[in-house]
Amino acid sequence: MKLIALVILATLSASIGFSQIPEHRHSVVEEIVQEISVDNIERIVERLVAFHTRHTLSDTSHPDIGIGAARRWIKREFEDYSRAAGGRLNVEYHRFIAESQPRIPEPTEIVNVVATLPGKLSGDRERVYVISGHYDSRVSDIMDAESFAPGANDDASGTAVVMELARVMSNYEFDATIVFMAVAGEEQGLIGARQWATDAYRHGMNIHGMITNDIVGNVFGGNNIVDNTRMRVFSEGVSPNTTDEELRRIVATGSENDSPSRQLARYIHEVSQRYVTNFEVVMIYRRDRYLRGGDHIPFNELGYPAIRFTEMNENFNWQHQDVRIEEGIQYGDLPEFVDYEYTANVTRVNAASLASLALAPPPPVNAGIDISRLEHDTTLRWEHDGTGEPAGFYICIRETTAPQWQRKMFVSTAEAAGDDDRYQYTVGGISKDNYNFGIQAVGDNGLHSVTVFPDPVR
Ligand SMILES: [Zn+2]
Repeated sequence: MKLIALVILATLSASIGFSQIPEHRHSVVEEIVQEISVDNIERIVERLVAFHTRHTLSDTSHPDIGIGAARRWIKREFEDYSRAAGGRLNVEYHRFIAESQPRIPEPTEIVNVVATLPGKLSGDRERVYVISGHYDSRVSDIMDAESFAPGANDDASGTAVVMELARVMSNYEFDATIVFMAVAGEEQGLIGARQWATDAYRHGMNIHGMITNDIVGNVFGGNNIVDNTRMRVFSEGVSPNTTDEELRRIVATGSENDSPSRQLARYIHEVSQRYVTNFEVVMIYRRDRYLRGGDHIPFNELGYPAIRFTEMNENFNWQHQDVRIEEGIQYGDLPEFVDYEYTANVTRVNAASLASLALAPPPPVNAGIDISRLEHDTTLRWEHDGTGEPAGFYICIRETTAPQWQRKMFVSTAEAAGDDDRYQYTVGGISKDNYNFGIQAVGDNGLHSVTVFPDPVR
Protein backbone atom coordinates (compact mmCIF):
# COMPACT_ATOMS: atom_id res chain seq x y z
CA MET A 1 0.00 0.00 0.00
CA LYS A 2 2.70 2.42 1.00
CA LEU A 3 4.61 1.85 -2.22
CA ILE A 4 1.61 2.53 -4.43
CA ALA A 5 0.88 5.81 -2.66
CA LEU A 6 4.45 6.94 -3.23
CA VAL A 7 4.28 6.19 -6.92
CA ILE A 8 1.10 8.24 -7.34
CA LEU A 9 2.61 11.19 -5.52
CA ALA A 10 5.71 11.13 -7.67
CA THR A 11 3.64 11.14 -10.85
CA LEU A 12 1.62 14.12 -9.68
CA SER A 13 4.57 16.27 -8.77
CA ALA A 14 6.26 15.40 -12.05
CA SER A 15 3.28 16.58 -14.08
CA ILE A 16 2.22 19.60 -12.01
CA GLY A 17 4.90 21.66 -10.35
CA PHE A 18 5.60 25.30 -9.59
CA SER A 19 9.06 25.18 -11.07
CA GLN A 20 7.58 24.88 -14.54
CA ILE A 21 6.33 28.47 -14.90
CA PRO A 22 8.84 30.24 -17.18
CA GLU A 23 10.68 33.17 -15.63
CA HIS A 24 11.82 34.90 -18.80
CA ARG A 25 12.01 38.70 -18.45
CA HIS A 26 11.59 41.01 -21.41
CA SER A 27 14.14 43.83 -21.50
CA VAL A 28 11.70 46.59 -22.53
CA VAL A 29 9.20 45.66 -19.83
CA GLU A 30 12.03 45.60 -17.30
CA GLU A 31 13.25 49.02 -18.46
CA ILE A 32 9.76 50.53 -18.13
CA VAL A 33 9.39 49.13 -14.62
CA GLN A 34 12.76 50.59 -13.62
CA GLU A 35 11.87 54.06 -14.89
CA ILE A 36 8.94 54.53 -12.48
CA SER A 37 9.80 57.52 -10.31
CA VAL A 38 8.88 57.74 -6.64
CA ASP A 39 9.58 61.48 -6.71
CA ASN A 40 7.20 62.14 -9.57
CA ILE A 41 4.42 60.21 -7.84
CA GLU A 42 4.96 62.25 -4.67
CA ARG A 43 4.96 65.52 -6.64
CA ILE A 44 1.65 64.63 -8.33
CA VAL A 45 -0.11 63.66 -5.09
CA GLU A 46 1.08 66.83 -3.31
CA ARG A 47 -0.04 69.00 -6.24
CA LEU A 48 -3.50 67.39 -6.38
CA VAL A 49 -3.95 67.89 -2.63
CA ALA A 50 -3.11 71.59 -3.05
CA PHE A 51 -6.33 72.20 -5.03
CA HIS A 52 -8.05 72.17 -1.59
CA THR A 53 -10.99 70.16 -2.90
CA ARG A 54 -11.55 68.19 -6.08
CA HIS A 55 -15.17 67.43 -5.30
CA THR A 56 -17.14 66.82 -8.48
CA LEU A 57 -19.55 69.68 -7.62
CA SER A 58 -16.77 72.10 -6.60
CA ASP A 59 -15.71 75.34 -8.31
CA THR A 60 -14.64 74.96 -11.93
CA SER A 61 -13.52 78.51 -12.68
CA HIS A 62 -11.17 79.36 -9.80
CA PRO A 63 -7.52 79.28 -10.96
CA ASP A 64 -6.18 77.30 -7.97
CA ILE A 65 -9.09 75.73 -6.10
CA GLY A 66 -11.60 73.09 -7.10
CA ILE A 67 -12.02 70.35 -9.66
CA GLY A 68 -11.73 72.69 -12.68
CA ALA A 69 -8.23 73.83 -11.72
CA ALA A 70 -7.30 70.20 -10.97
CA ARG A 71 -8.35 68.87 -14.35
CA ARG A 72 -6.63 71.72 -16.21
CA TRP A 73 -3.43 70.87 -14.37
CA ILE A 74 -3.77 67.13 -15.10
CA LYS A 75 -4.30 67.89 -18.78
CA ARG A 76 -1.23 70.14 -18.90
CA GLU A 77 0.84 67.42 -17.24
CA PHE A 78 -0.28 64.82 -19.79
CA GLU A 79 0.58 67.33 -22.53
CA ASP A 80 4.03 67.89 -21.04
CA TYR A 81 4.66 64.12 -20.96
CA SER A 82 3.49 63.88 -24.54
CA ARG A 83 5.78 66.70 -25.68
CA ALA A 84 8.75 65.07 -23.97
CA ALA A 85 7.91 61.83 -25.82
CA GLY A 86 7.66 63.49 -29.23
CA GLY A 87 3.92 64.14 -29.14
CA ARG A 88 2.87 60.53 -28.91
CA LEU A 89 -0.07 60.94 -26.52
CA ASN A 90 -3.47 62.20 -27.66
CA VAL A 91 -4.65 64.27 -24.71
CA GLU A 92 -8.25 65.38 -24.47
CA TYR A 93 -11.17 66.10 -22.19
CA HIS A 94 -14.04 63.65 -22.33
CA ARG A 95 -16.92 65.86 -21.20
CA PHE A 96 -20.64 65.39 -20.79
CA ILE A 97 -23.56 66.62 -18.73
CA ALA A 98 -24.65 64.28 -15.93
CA GLU A 99 -28.38 64.51 -15.28
CA SER A 100 -29.75 65.11 -11.78
CA GLN A 101 -29.43 62.00 -9.60
CA PRO A 102 -29.09 61.23 -5.89
CA ARG A 103 -25.59 62.71 -5.58
CA ILE A 104 -25.92 65.30 -8.38
CA PRO A 105 -28.57 67.89 -7.41
CA GLU A 106 -28.71 69.57 -10.81
CA PRO A 107 -27.32 68.77 -14.27
CA THR A 108 -23.54 69.09 -13.99
CA GLU A 109 -20.71 68.89 -16.46
CA ILE A 110 -18.38 65.99 -15.68
CA VAL A 111 -14.93 65.98 -17.28
CA ASN A 112 -12.59 63.00 -17.59
CA VAL A 113 -9.01 63.71 -18.64
CA VAL A 114 -7.90 61.10 -21.15
CA ALA A 115 -4.46 60.50 -22.68
CA THR A 116 -4.33 57.85 -25.39
CA LEU A 117 -1.15 56.17 -26.59
CA PRO A 118 -2.08 54.68 -29.98
CA GLY A 119 -0.75 51.21 -30.64
CA LYS A 120 0.93 50.04 -33.82
CA LEU A 121 -2.12 48.00 -34.77
CA SER A 122 -5.23 49.82 -35.93
CA GLY A 123 -8.60 49.02 -37.47
CA ASP A 124 -9.88 45.49 -36.85
CA ARG A 125 -6.66 44.52 -35.18
CA GLU A 126 -6.69 47.29 -32.60
CA ARG A 127 -6.73 46.12 -28.97
CA VAL A 128 -7.22 48.60 -26.15
CA TYR A 129 -6.16 48.51 -22.50
CA VAL A 130 -7.60 51.12 -20.15
CA ILE A 131 -5.95 52.26 -16.94
CA SER A 132 -7.72 54.66 -14.59
CA GLY A 133 -7.71 56.54 -11.32
CA HIS A 134 -10.30 59.06 -10.14
CA TYR A 135 -9.23 62.61 -9.43
CA ASP A 136 -12.38 63.76 -7.62
CA SER A 137 -12.36 63.75 -3.80
CA ARG A 138 -14.82 63.99 -0.92
CA VAL A 139 -15.24 64.50 2.83
CA SER A 140 -17.75 63.06 5.33
CA ASP A 141 -20.78 64.68 3.69
CA ILE A 142 -20.85 63.45 0.12
CA MET A 143 -22.54 66.69 -1.01
CA ASP A 144 -19.97 69.01 0.64
CA ALA A 145 -18.15 70.63 -2.28
CA GLU A 146 -16.24 73.28 -0.32
CA SER A 147 -14.45 71.81 2.71
CA PHE A 148 -10.81 70.74 2.53
CA ALA A 149 -10.93 67.36 0.75
CA PRO A 150 -7.29 66.39 0.16
CA GLY A 151 -8.11 62.92 -1.20
CA ALA A 152 -4.39 62.10 -1.10
CA ASN A 153 -4.93 58.35 -1.05
CA ASP A 154 -8.50 58.29 -2.44
CA ASP A 155 -7.64 58.82 -5.11
CA ALA A 156 -4.73 61.15 -5.84
CA SER A 157 -2.60 58.02 -5.36
CA GLY A 158 -4.38 56.19 -8.19
CA THR A 159 -4.35 59.30 -10.38
CA ALA A 160 -0.60 59.59 -9.80
CA VAL A 161 -0.16 55.94 -10.80
CA VAL A 162 -1.95 56.60 -14.09
CA MET A 163 -0.04 59.82 -14.81
CA GLU A 164 3.34 58.29 -14.03
CA LEU A 165 2.52 55.36 -16.32
CA ALA A 166 1.62 57.81 -19.09
CA ARG A 167 4.89 59.70 -18.59
CA VAL A 168 7.06 56.59 -18.78
CA MET A 169 5.14 54.46 -21.27
CA SER A 170 4.61 57.21 -23.85
CA ASN A 171 8.32 56.88 -24.67
CA TYR A 172 7.75 53.34 -25.94
CA GLU A 173 5.83 51.78 -28.79
CA PHE A 174 3.30 49.01 -28.22
CA ASP A 175 1.16 46.81 -30.45
CA ALA A 176 -1.94 47.63 -28.43
CA THR A 177 -3.44 51.03 -27.64
CA ILE A 178 -3.28 52.19 -24.03
CA VAL A 179 -5.76 54.69 -22.59
CA PHE A 180 -4.59 56.54 -19.46
CA MET A 181 -7.58 58.06 -17.71
CA ALA A 182 -8.14 60.42 -14.78
CA VAL A 183 -11.88 60.34 -14.22
CA ALA A 184 -14.32 62.50 -12.23
CA GLY A 185 -17.62 61.70 -10.53
CA GLU A 186 -16.44 58.45 -8.93
CA GLU A 187 -17.57 59.45 -5.45
CA GLN A 188 -20.92 60.66 -6.81
CA GLY A 189 -21.64 57.21 -8.32
CA LEU A 190 -18.96 56.10 -10.80
CA ILE A 191 -20.39 58.66 -13.22
CA GLY A 192 -17.30 59.61 -15.24
CA ALA A 193 -16.10 56.05 -15.81
CA ARG A 194 -19.60 54.81 -16.64
CA GLN A 195 -20.07 57.43 -19.36
CA TRP A 196 -16.65 56.78 -20.88
CA ALA A 197 -17.24 53.00 -20.86
CA THR A 198 -20.69 53.42 -22.40
CA ASP A 199 -19.34 55.67 -25.17
CA ALA A 200 -16.51 53.21 -25.84
CA TYR A 201 -19.02 50.35 -26.01
CA ARG A 202 -21.22 52.26 -28.46
CA HIS A 203 -18.20 52.88 -30.66
CA GLY A 204 -17.37 49.16 -30.57
CA MET A 205 -14.01 49.76 -28.94
CA ASN A 206 -12.13 46.48 -28.60
CA ILE A 207 -11.27 46.75 -24.89
CA HIS A 208 -9.24 43.74 -23.78
CA GLY A 209 -8.74 44.84 -20.20
CA MET A 210 -9.37 47.66 -17.75
CA ILE A 211 -7.61 48.36 -14.44
CA THR A 212 -8.71 50.92 -11.90
CA ASN A 213 -6.23 52.09 -9.26
CA ASP A 214 -8.21 53.36 -6.30
CA ILE A 215 -6.77 53.78 -2.77
CA VAL A 216 -3.31 52.43 -3.52
CA GLY A 217 -1.01 54.44 -1.24
CA ASN A 218 -1.49 53.57 2.43
CA VAL A 219 0.39 50.87 4.37
CA PHE A 220 -0.90 51.54 7.93
CA GLY A 221 -4.10 49.53 8.22
CA GLY A 222 -6.88 50.57 10.59
CA ASN A 223 -6.50 47.01 11.90
CA ASN A 224 -2.95 47.97 13.09
CA ILE A 225 -1.33 45.80 10.42
CA VAL A 226 1.51 47.56 8.64
CA ASP A 227 2.25 45.94 5.30
CA ASN A 228 4.16 47.58 2.47
CA THR A 229 4.77 44.37 0.52
CA ARG A 230 1.29 43.38 -0.60
CA MET A 231 -1.59 44.82 -2.61
CA ARG A 232 -4.96 43.42 -3.62
CA VAL A 233 -6.47 42.78 -7.02
CA PHE A 234 -10.25 42.37 -7.00
CA SER A 235 -11.87 40.44 -9.84
CA GLU A 236 -15.39 39.19 -10.42
CA GLY A 237 -15.89 35.43 -10.91
CA VAL A 238 -18.95 35.59 -13.14
CA SER A 239 -19.81 38.44 -15.48
CA PRO A 240 -23.15 40.12 -14.67
CA ASN A 241 -24.30 39.80 -18.27
CA THR A 242 -23.74 36.07 -18.47
CA THR A 243 -26.61 34.42 -20.38
CA ASP A 244 -28.52 31.44 -18.96
CA GLU A 245 -26.83 29.18 -21.49
CA GLU A 246 -23.38 30.46 -20.50
CA LEU A 247 -24.26 30.02 -16.84
CA ARG A 248 -25.18 26.37 -17.42
CA ARG A 249 -21.84 25.89 -19.17
CA ILE A 250 -19.97 27.54 -16.30
CA VAL A 251 -21.64 25.17 -13.85
CA ALA A 252 -20.97 22.12 -16.04
CA THR A 253 -17.30 22.91 -16.66
CA GLY A 254 -16.48 24.29 -13.21
CA SER A 255 -15.24 27.51 -14.77
CA GLU A 256 -16.76 29.87 -12.20
CA ASN A 257 -13.19 30.80 -11.29
CA ASP A 258 -12.09 31.41 -14.89
CA SER A 259 -13.92 34.54 -16.03
CA PRO A 260 -12.03 36.93 -18.32
CA SER A 261 -11.68 39.38 -15.40
CA ARG A 262 -10.16 36.67 -13.22
CA GLN A 263 -7.83 35.59 -16.02
CA LEU A 264 -6.67 39.21 -16.19
CA ALA A 265 -6.06 39.24 -12.41
CA ARG A 266 -4.20 35.93 -12.67
CA TYR A 267 -2.06 37.33 -15.50
CA ILE A 268 -1.15 40.37 -13.39
CA HIS A 269 -0.27 38.12 -10.46
CA GLU A 270 2.04 36.05 -12.65
CA VAL A 271 3.70 38.92 -14.50
CA SER A 272 4.27 41.12 -11.45
CA GLN A 273 6.14 38.30 -9.69
CA ARG A 274 8.55 38.34 -12.59
CA TYR A 275 9.31 42.07 -12.52
CA VAL A 276 8.48 43.52 -9.09
CA THR A 277 10.51 41.88 -6.38
CA ASN A 278 9.55 41.72 -2.72
CA PHE A 279 6.01 42.71 -3.62
CA GLU A 280 2.98 40.48 -3.84
CA VAL A 281 -0.29 40.86 -5.68
CA VAL A 282 -2.95 39.14 -3.61
CA MET A 283 -5.93 37.93 -5.61
CA ILE A 284 -9.32 38.51 -4.02
CA TYR A 285 -12.13 36.50 -5.61
CA ARG A 286 -14.69 39.30 -5.37
CA ARG A 287 -15.69 42.19 -7.60
CA ASP A 288 -14.98 44.76 -4.88
CA ARG A 289 -15.00 45.18 -1.11
CA TYR A 290 -18.31 45.05 0.80
CA LEU A 291 -20.26 48.33 0.69
CA ARG A 292 -17.77 49.78 -1.78
CA GLY A 293 -17.50 50.12 -5.53
CA GLY A 294 -15.08 51.38 -8.14
CA ASP A 295 -14.68 52.49 -11.72
CA HIS A 296 -14.09 48.93 -12.99
CA ILE A 297 -17.73 48.05 -12.27
CA PRO A 298 -19.30 49.96 -15.21
CA PHE A 299 -16.82 48.13 -17.46
CA ASN A 300 -17.74 44.76 -15.90
CA GLU A 301 -21.41 45.57 -16.46
CA LEU A 302 -20.76 46.06 -20.17
CA GLY A 303 -18.99 42.70 -20.32
CA TYR A 304 -15.38 43.91 -20.38
CA PRO A 305 -12.64 42.24 -18.32
CA ALA A 306 -11.96 44.80 -15.58
CA ILE A 307 -10.32 44.63 -12.17
CA ARG A 308 -9.49 46.83 -9.19
CA PHE A 309 -6.19 47.50 -7.43
CA THR A 310 -6.32 48.57 -3.78
CA GLU A 311 -3.85 48.59 -0.90
CA MET A 312 -3.75 45.52 1.38
CA ASN A 313 -5.02 47.08 4.63
CA GLU A 314 -7.20 50.18 4.48
CA ASN A 315 -7.58 52.81 7.17
CA PHE A 316 -11.13 54.12 7.26
CA ASN A 317 -10.20 57.08 9.50
CA TRP A 318 -8.30 58.42 6.50
CA GLN A 319 -10.95 57.96 3.84
CA HIS A 320 -14.10 60.02 3.13
CA GLN A 321 -13.56 61.95 6.39
CA ASP A 322 -13.55 65.62 7.34
CA VAL A 323 -9.99 66.60 8.20
CA ARG A 324 -10.05 66.95 12.01
CA ILE A 325 -8.58 65.75 15.27
CA GLU A 326 -11.01 64.01 17.61
CA GLU A 327 -9.91 62.55 20.96
CA GLY A 328 -6.33 62.74 19.79
CA ILE A 329 -7.02 60.85 16.54
CA GLN A 330 -6.25 62.47 13.20
CA TYR A 331 -8.95 61.96 10.60
CA GLY A 332 -8.79 62.86 6.94
CA ASP A 333 -7.17 61.74 3.70
CA LEU A 334 -3.87 63.60 4.16
CA PRO A 335 -0.69 63.21 2.12
CA GLU A 336 1.38 62.25 5.18
CA PHE A 337 -0.52 58.94 5.16
CA VAL A 338 0.61 58.08 1.64
CA ASP A 339 3.69 55.88 1.32
CA TYR A 340 5.25 56.87 -1.98
CA GLU A 341 7.60 53.90 -2.23
CA TYR A 342 4.60 51.62 -1.85
CA THR A 343 2.60 53.58 -4.45
CA ALA A 344 5.58 53.27 -6.78
CA ASN A 345 5.49 49.48 -6.38
CA VAL A 346 1.79 49.48 -7.26
CA THR A 347 2.73 51.57 -10.31
CA ARG A 348 5.42 49.02 -11.24
CA VAL A 349 2.83 46.22 -11.09
CA ASN A 350 0.64 48.25 -13.45
CA ALA A 351 3.60 48.98 -15.72
CA ALA A 352 4.78 45.36 -15.95
CA SER A 353 1.25 44.11 -16.60
CA LEU A 354 0.29 46.76 -19.16
CA ALA A 355 3.58 46.63 -21.07
CA SER A 356 3.46 42.81 -21.21
CA LEU A 357 -0.15 42.80 -22.37
CA ALA A 358 0.42 45.51 -24.98
CA LEU A 359 3.56 43.86 -26.44
CA ALA A 360 2.20 40.29 -26.41
CA PRO A 361 0.10 38.78 -29.17
CA PRO A 362 -3.67 38.83 -28.67
CA PRO A 363 -5.10 35.79 -26.90
CA PRO A 364 -6.34 32.77 -28.88
CA VAL A 365 -9.98 32.78 -30.00
CA ASN A 366 -12.64 30.07 -30.33
CA ALA A 367 -10.77 27.92 -27.82
CA GLY A 368 -12.32 24.52 -27.28
CA ILE A 369 -11.73 21.39 -25.25
CA ASP A 370 -12.71 18.17 -27.03
CA ILE A 371 -15.45 16.29 -25.16
CA SER A 372 -16.49 13.95 -27.98
CA ARG A 373 -15.48 10.82 -26.10
CA LEU A 374 -14.38 9.48 -22.74
CA GLU A 375 -10.59 9.48 -22.57
CA HIS A 376 -7.64 10.06 -20.29
CA ASP A 377 -5.88 12.57 -22.57
CA THR A 378 -6.98 16.16 -23.18
CA THR A 379 -7.28 17.67 -26.65
CA LEU A 380 -7.52 21.42 -27.10
CA ARG A 381 -8.39 23.33 -30.28
CA TRP A 382 -8.21 27.04 -30.95
CA GLU A 383 -7.67 29.75 -33.54
CA HIS A 384 -5.51 32.81 -33.59
CA ASP A 385 -6.33 35.88 -35.62
CA GLY A 386 -3.52 38.07 -34.45
CA THR A 387 -0.75 39.78 -36.31
CA GLY A 388 0.84 37.03 -38.28
CA GLU A 389 1.55 33.78 -36.55
CA PRO A 390 2.69 33.79 -32.94
CA ALA A 391 5.78 31.77 -32.06
CA GLY A 392 3.61 29.32 -30.22
CA PHE A 393 1.29 28.79 -27.31
CA TYR A 394 1.38 27.86 -23.67
CA ILE A 395 -0.98 25.15 -22.59
CA CYS A 396 -1.77 26.16 -19.00
CA ILE A 397 -2.75 23.51 -16.48
CA ARG A 398 -3.78 23.66 -12.86
CA GLU A 399 -5.62 21.52 -10.36
CA THR A 400 -9.28 22.56 -10.09
CA THR A 401 -8.67 23.88 -6.57
CA ALA A 402 -5.45 25.78 -7.39
CA PRO A 403 -5.65 29.58 -7.66
CA GLN A 404 -2.83 29.94 -10.23
CA TRP A 405 -1.71 28.04 -13.30
CA GLN A 406 0.77 25.46 -12.03
CA ARG A 407 2.26 24.26 -15.25
CA LYS A 408 2.75 25.79 -18.66
CA MET A 409 3.78 23.67 -21.63
CA PHE A 410 5.19 25.50 -24.63
CA VAL A 411 3.85 24.22 -27.94
CA SER A 412 5.27 25.74 -31.11
CA THR A 413 3.00 26.94 -33.88
CA ALA A 414 4.23 24.05 -36.06
CA GLU A 415 3.54 21.46 -33.37
CA ALA A 416 0.02 22.80 -32.87
CA ALA A 417 -0.88 23.26 -36.54
CA GLY A 418 -4.14 21.48 -37.30
CA ASP A 419 -6.63 21.43 -40.17
CA ASP A 420 -8.18 24.54 -41.73
CA ASP A 421 -5.99 27.11 -39.95
CA ARG A 422 -7.02 25.76 -36.59
CA TYR A 423 -4.54 24.77 -33.95
CA GLN A 424 -4.81 21.59 -31.97
CA TYR A 425 -2.81 19.88 -29.28
CA THR A 426 -3.31 16.77 -27.20
CA VAL A 427 -1.88 16.68 -23.71
CA GLY A 428 -1.22 13.02 -23.08
CA GLY A 429 -1.99 11.47 -19.72
CA ILE A 430 -3.57 14.51 -18.06
CA SER A 431 -7.31 14.18 -17.84
CA LYS A 432 -9.57 17.17 -18.37
CA ASP A 433 -11.80 15.70 -15.66
CA ASN A 434 -9.23 16.52 -12.98
CA TYR A 435 -7.57 19.74 -14.13
CA ASN A 436 -8.43 23.12 -15.57
CA PHE A 437 -6.82 23.95 -18.89
CA GLY A 438 -6.17 27.26 -20.62
CA ILE A 439 -4.29 28.57 -23.64
CA GLN A 440 -2.02 31.59 -24.02
CA ALA A 441 -0.52 32.90 -27.26
CA VAL A 442 3.25 33.51 -27.14
CA GLY A 443 5.00 36.08 -29.35
CA ASP A 444 8.46 35.96 -30.93
CA ASN A 445 9.52 38.28 -28.10
CA GLY A 446 8.61 35.62 -25.52
CA LEU A 447 5.70 37.62 -24.09
CA HIS A 448 2.38 35.87 -23.69
CA SER A 449 -1.28 36.85 -23.75
CA VAL A 450 -3.84 36.34 -21.01
CA THR A 451 -5.23 32.83 -20.72
CA VAL A 452 -8.34 31.78 -22.57
CA PHE A 453 -10.52 29.10 -20.98
CA PRO A 454 -11.77 26.59 -23.57
CA ASP A 455 -15.46 25.81 -24.10
CA PRO A 456 -16.52 22.19 -24.55
CA VAL A 457 -16.57 21.18 -28.24
CA ARG A 458 -17.28 17.95 -30.11
ZN1 LIG B 1 -11.92 56.05 -4.51
